[in-house]
Amino acid sequence: MSDVANSGSPLSGAAARPRLVMKFGGTSVANIERIRNVARHVKREIEAGFDVAVVVSAMSGKTNELVAWCKEASPLHDAREYDAVVASGEQVTSGLLAIVLQDMGVQARSWQGWQIPILTDQAHGSARIESIDGSEIVKRFSERSEVAVVAGFQGMHKATGRIATLGRGGSDTSAVALAAAIGAARCDIYTDVDGVYTTDPRIVPKARRLEKVAFEEMLEMASLGAKVLQVRSVEVAMVHKVPTYVRSSFDDPAHPQSGTLICAEEDIMEAQVVTGIAFSRDEAQITLRRVADKPGVAAAIFVPLADANINVDMIIQVVSDDQASTDITFTVPSADYDRARAILEKASSTIGFASVTGATDVVKVSAIGIGMRSHAGVAARAFKALSEKGINIRAITTSEIKFSVLIDAAYTELAVRTLHSLYGLDKA
Ligand code: ADP
Ligand code: ASP
Ligand code: MG
Repeated sequence: MSDVANSGSPLSGAAARPRLVMKFGGTSVANIERIRNVARHVKREIEAGFDVAVVVSAMSGKTNELVAWCKEASPLHDAREYDAVVASGEQVTSGLLAIVLQDMGVQARSWQGWQIPILTDQAHGSARIESIDGSEIVKRFSERSEVAVVAGFQGMHKATGRIATLGRGGSDTSAVALAAAIGAARCDIYTDVDGVYTTDPRIVPKARRLEKVAFEEMLEMASLGAKVLQVRSVEVAMVHKVPTYVRSSFDDPAHPQSGTLICAEEDIMEAQVVTGIAFSRDEAQITLRRVADKPGVAAAIFVPLADANINVDMIIQVVSDDQASTDITFTVPSADYDRARAILEKASSTIGFASVTGATDVVKVSAIGIGMRSHAGVAARAFKALSEKGINIRAITTSEIKFSVLIDAAYTELAVRTLHSLYGLDKA
């Protein structure tokens, strides 16, 4: 990953205050009254002695609306113009929060990505942050006690100077990267739940809030579908060792409650075997039947998909009875399903297969826990429990701290609840 540059000598001066980045998601800034509530949280932290940079998302639903407008304007729109449109939601909320803070007597100024600047690579729509110059923000902390209100989700492509957005959920990454750049003591991610749960609390009412989660576990949970944090934000937090605290913005600002700390593994006293269950509906399955069982076939299938930037995840190869041909099943992101099938049809003469079939009504359910490293048979227990519920497993993958099963989407909730209970995660 690229660096998030540190802002010169942030701690110069005798009595520098500790710094804090506070990020508020879409539901937390959904209207002016909620923005006022956000301002109260900010004011509390200033009074507690922090210099504060706030990162805001667009009002909830706004980014979806902007994305839909781009599609309506033209299904195959220019990615640079998409970014010009979708970045606007955060411009509005950053300005509004600065106004509300000023109204409460707090010195505040809004910042768009290009004004800081937050520099990115060229991947419009899912750009990566390359550097952040936090020096002006830090200078204003000491010279004016000014709160920086930063528009999340956006930066500026360093070569062209054009606005670039960081992918859906990207304000989390803006916040953690900014925390790294200004040497913040912590990054607080305020959202509509009071922390990271053992699984999505909207699906499993018995889900429990976790006190602490290791960076690596959170990275797997986010990658495997727990959208509470953008995957990239966890990567940045892990690499730059930014303690990241997920907490609720709906708490009474005068009486903040506990959340979940994402931290180094060493800081977690007692690791569970399984910490959480995640699921992702963004999967599709493709099966190639009667593929020749000879060297070079896997390359003939997967190289064209890789060349088209299609991420293949689970792969299963079955040897047929005749030993001459085999069936190969694999998964791709559902957004890439049609494209993947078209590529395979096009390459059919080089690959050589009898037919290609597929399914999009599938879901990947995963269990994650650093304790799996030292416990055998964790996944095997799941296979048994799922079979007892009549759930058929289409594909399996395992790695050091997680395993995943691909099942019919209709069984998502049953499977998640079954595994949640199996590993003792249900709240009492
Ligand atoms: P924000 O708009 O604040 O960025 P998000 O909608 O992106 O909020 O993320 C919060 C949501 O993530 C929660 O409302 C919850 O439904 C969902 N979620 C999924 N998995 C988990 C989990 N393991 N713990 C907590 N929340 C989760
Ligand atoms: N507003 C953007 C989105 O909805 C970024 C974010 O909220 O993190 O994806
Ligand atoms: Mg989010």
